[in-house]
Amino acid sequence: MEPTAEGASSSALSRLATLVRLQALDRDRDGKREFTDGLPRILAARRQAVTALESKVAKSTEAVTHAKSSARQRELELKSKTAEIQKLELQLNTAKTNQEYQALTQHIQRLREATGREEEETLVLYDEITKLEASLAKEKEALSVAQREFDAYQLACERDKEAALLEIGQTDGARAELVARLPRDVVETYERLRVGNGGVAVCALDVRTCSGCGMMLTLNDQAKVLGGRELVPCRACSRILYDKTTIASLRS
Ligand SMILES: [Zn+2]
Repeated sequence: MEPTAEGASSSALSRLATLVRLQALDRDRDGKREFTDGLPRILAARRQAVTALESKVAKSTEAVTHAKSSARQRELELKSKTAEIQKLELQLNTAKTNQEYQALTQHIQRLREATGREEEETLVLYDEITKLEASLAKEKEALSVAQREFDAYQLACERDKEAALLEIGQTDGARAELVARLPRDVVETYERLRVGNGGVAVCALDVRTCSGCGMMLTLNDQAKVLGGRELVPCRACSRILYDKTTIASLRS
């Protein structure tokens, strides 16, 4: 049976309406898929804050270890100098000449002065260690907070991902139903146009321009779109054009 003019018009228009609905559904699914696909990157970027703190803690731990080991080294040196002073002091008792006594006294004096300076330096070093340990403790606390925050964020993202995948799965049937209403060539054109066009294959008319690329339509094309009797591609971007009011009139 030949379709009547009325029939052809309503079928073109209903195809257009189906395409618009299909695209709305696909855009929603695309957004969800974009989120699930991009999640590893989002999480890696977020994890960087934790990694930065981890390396800070590692550096500070190393600084504390280093400072403590040089403090131990200084303590040992001080001990051996003190022992040397004690030994020299004993020798004072057995000094044979006045000259020898004087020389020993001067040597002891110099060693005592040096030891005194080193003791002060060691005290400064211990102060330094205290400060380093305090700042390390703060960094460790910050790291643990950041780690907890990241874990919570990751958990929330994983839940969102599961929900998104579930929702995509739940719309599979609705999508197949819409696709089944369209002729194969229209579906193919639609799929082809979606690629490289940000997923947008069907564009609403914005007064006289294509809302996809901004190209102004000829009066003839505009009339065709408003009429809704055929699928009209934009001459610039090839996307299929529709008029919102015309589509709405079909639904009402
Ligand atoms: Zn266009």
